[in-house]
Amino acid sequence: MSENKIPYKIYLSEEEMPKAWYNVRADMANKPAPLLNPGTHQPMTAEELAPVFCEELVKQELDDTTAYIPIPQEIQDFYKMYRPSPLVRAYCLEEKLQTPAKIYYKFEGNNTSGSHKLNSAIAQAYYAKKQGLKGVTTETGAGQWGTALSMACSYFGLDCKVYMVKCSYEQKPFRREVMRVYGASVTPSPSETTAVGRKILAEHPGTTGSLGCAISEAVEVATSTPGYRYVLGSVLNQVLLHQSVIGLETKTAMDKYGIVPDIIIGCAGGGSNLGGLISPFMGEKLRGERDYRFIAVEPASCPSFTRGKFAYDFCDTGMVCPLAKMYTLGSSFIPSANHAGGLRYHGMSSTLSQLYHDGLMEAVSVEQTKVFEAAEQFARVEGILPAPESSHAIKVAIDEAMKCKETGEEKTILFGLTGTGYFDMVAYEKFHDGKMTDYIPTDADLQVGFDGIPKFPGNEF
Ligand SMILES: *Cc1c(COP(=O)(O)O)cnc(C)c1O
Repeated sequence: MSENKIPYKIYLSEEEMPKAWYNVRADMANKPAPLLNPGTHQPMTAEELAPVFCEELVKQELDDTTAYIPIPQEIQDFYKMYRPSPLVRAYCLEEKLQTPAKIYYKFEGNNTSGSHKLNSAIAQAYYAKKQGLKGVTTETGAGQWGTALSMACSYFGLDCKVYMVKCSYEQKPFRREVMRVYGASVTPSPSETTAVGRKILAEHPGTTGSLGCAISEAVEVATSTPGYRYVLGSVLNQVLLHQSVIGLETKTAMDKYGIVPDIIIGCAGGGSNLGGLISPFMGEKLRGERDYRFIAVEPASCPSFTRGKFAYDFCDTGMVCPLAKMYTLGSSFIPSANHAGGLRYHGMSSTLSQLYHDGLMEAVSVEQTKVFEAAEQFARVEGILPAPESSHAIKVAIDEAMKCKETGEEKTILFGLTGTGYFDMVAYEKFHDGKMTDYIPTDADLQVGFDGIPKFPGNEF
């Protein structure tokens, strides 16, 4: 089909929507390293994971061999309410940049949670319901995951207890209220409601909290309350699996028009949207069928891939979770207080970490003022007010398009536009008022986090 036939938005019919998730681990020669028991340093068994996660999700977490896992009908039906998400040809941005590059983005912000997180939230709530559980616990930072999970839980009639990083709880009261609309209880973390929260408060009075700390609290409540399990919105293999719906839809839509991306770009916090977007394309690369460039974009103030260590580390501050092998800044790492752009988790998906380690993917870090400049440039021509997280991908997509302008190459660039930024207007305000600064941690700053990575035989880094 000729170039000018490609519409601004490519949708799929319900029949064309994915019926199975794609598990990229099945095609990886080097599998991601298994989760380890923090006491024995042996791989976590399904029995050991069962008190923490739902049974079916434990199976998905440990399954490195099944390429396609059917999406239960109830989840497919829920997906139909807000999916397929549009694949947009950014004609207006191309025109503005005067670039020969062809730019596409997959927009995941068209639901109340405002991000891709609902894709996994609904799956995790479904399996909890199917197991007959009463409810789930989780942590949330900026609030997108907590919002998505509260929507999914209310749909299936499950209780939802959210531990929200204290500074966000105070700075983002509206997110908190959205969660309460859907019936979730929201507790600022660290809190007095858990042993680990009380310990962290005693050691660091006045702390404004972190994701790692909220995870410890949520896990404690899940494992000590009958009928509850813990769910996580990123990082885990199961979450990447559910998010593959993003990449599968994108691939089907592109195939319809014979579009083949040269470069695929996504922002990376814990790695779930990027992992989901690239999965089917990475599968082709792993099977030797086609080559693509994949670029993970992270904040310069929280540079897990570009400056982190590839090692087994704690997933949480309280050190109650299994150890994961990943690119990490150390579980005590907290980005500087002026960091407003999200993506602040200290570690990265084990699957993406292995792919990056094996040279199958690239990573770059960008400064937040540049990210907000790109966000505004994009908003003014494409009409969508992007989340700061998503804008990391926009920034690098624009950079790549500008390189094409210099060289005259007509590359096809695809990026993930993970969500909208309506709840991030305080960050935009800082940017407009010239109060946003760029902070890049020094090697000495990072060393403090690295010193907390556990040392045991086999964990040299
Ligand atoms: C949570 C979130 C991210 C980052 O999480 P990943 O697991 O790395 O995808 C990116 N964008 C938005 C809008 C988010 O809510």
